[in-house]
Amino acid sequence: MRTIAIMNQKGGVGKTTSSVNLAAGLARQGKRVLLIDLDPQGHASLHLGYEAVGDTPTIYDVFSSVKTIGEVRHMVSDNLWIAASNVDLAAAELELVDAPNRETVLRDALNLIAESNAFEYVIMDCPPSLGVLTVNALTAASEVFIPLQPHFFALQGLSKLLSTTALVSRRLNRNLKVTGIMLCLYETGTRLAADVCDDLNDFLTRSEGDTPWSGAKIFESRIRRNIKLAEAPSYGQSVFDYDSKCNGAEDYGNMVNEVLAMQQPVQEPIRIAA
Ligand code: ADP
Ligand code: MG
Repeated sequence: MRTIAIMNQKGGVGKTTSSVNLAAGLARQGKRVLLIDLDPQGHASLHLGYEAVGDTPTIYDVFSSVKTIGEVRHMVSDNLWIAASNVDLAAAELELVDAPNRETVLRDALNLIAESNAFEYVIMDCPPSLGVLTVNALTAASEVFIPLQPHFFALQGLSKLLSTTALVSRRLNRNLKVTGIMLCLYETGTRLAADVCDDLNDFLTRSEGDTPWSGAKIFESRIRRNIKLAEAPSYGQSVFDYDSKCNGAEDYGNMVNEVLAMQQPVQEPIRIAA
């Protein structure tokens, strides 16, 4: 089971769009995929046409230890399940403060289903913060993808984000690897986008050594700015269902192929503290 956290503490960089369309694209390639919506805004859930209202089980129930992942997952299309969220999840940040296992709730929950082989891919759409929900995603993940919008400020904030991955890797999850940078909302042919890519490449090649991001690569597929990607959520569809011929479907389709072709990080057994 590959567990991938899609994180960036900035909002509006393409986390949800990438999580949903990667998950949907992998499912279309025949992989069994669970998308976990970790943002209390519930955008990933809504993007797939699923609104968790009333007593609908959500990932919040997993954080409150009243339900398992198997009990909250909901099938949205062939091979694709969502563990939905809604505003209730905002309470988890506070409620977990005193819980001794607050950083490992999600990992523990995923460990319960890992054996069953129910899913080949788990994609986690993180909220725009470095709080306890994101830390749970990083503790449960073996791979981190970082969506970035290539503009002048893109690299600002990246060091804070990376030091969070380093902290989690030291304390909670030494399998954690930042494996891919996804350039989203890409303006083809602009000088700025090319410059930011060069800076990023320089940074990554300089970061040798024992960090979670050594060996990270920028995905070849750039996700161009494409209005269809912004329209698809209001129809509750992935971009592939909304318009399979648009640039957005082409770009995410290419990225899905790269993800499938990626060498997976070597997994070491996670030590359980006595
Ligand atoms: P995040 O989850 O990081 O906050 P989103 O994926 O929700 O970011 O994207 C922010 C906004 O930009 C959304 O309205 C989304 O539809 C739009 N968007 C994301 N990627 C693209 C793109 N490549 N082209 C056009 N609009 C995009
Ligand atoms: Mg989002």
